[in-house]
Amino acid sequence: MAKTYSNKINKIRSFALALIFIGVIVMYGGIFFRDNPIVMLIFITLGMLSILFSMVVYFWIGMLSTKAVVVTCPNCEKQTKVLGRVDMCMYCREPLTLDPNLEGKEFNEDYNKKKKESAQN
Ligand SMILES: [Zn+2]
Repeated sequence: MAKTYSNKINKIRSFALALIFIGVIVMYGGIFFRDNPIVMLIFITLGMLSILFSMVVYFWIGMLSTKAVVVTCPNCEKQTKVLGRVDMCMYCREPLTLDPNLEGKEFNEDYNKKKKESAQN
C-alpha cells in the first residue's frame, strides 16, 4: 500500500462522504430488484445503514475537531487543525507537529502510535 499522507480530519471526512455515495448507490441498485421485494428491501436497508453510519462518522469528526488544535501553518499561513502528535496541513500537506522533540525530523505517522516499541528497535 502506497503511503500517502493527508490531514486526518480531511481523511475521515472523505470517508464519510464516500459512505453516503455508497449508500445512495446501493439504495438505487434496489430499484433493479423491484420484482423481488425482499432483495429490494435488503438493498434499501443496506443503503440506509451506510448513510446512518456516515452520520455517525460525521458526528465523530465533530467530536475530534473540538479536540484538534488549531494552528497556523508555517508554510501556507492558513489555519489548519492538528490531530495527534503529527499531522498534515489541510491545504498544502506540510507536516506539522505539536511535539517539540519531533521538530525537524522526517515526517512519520508512526509517531502517533507505539512510541515505546519504536524506541526499542
Ligand atoms: Zn499549509
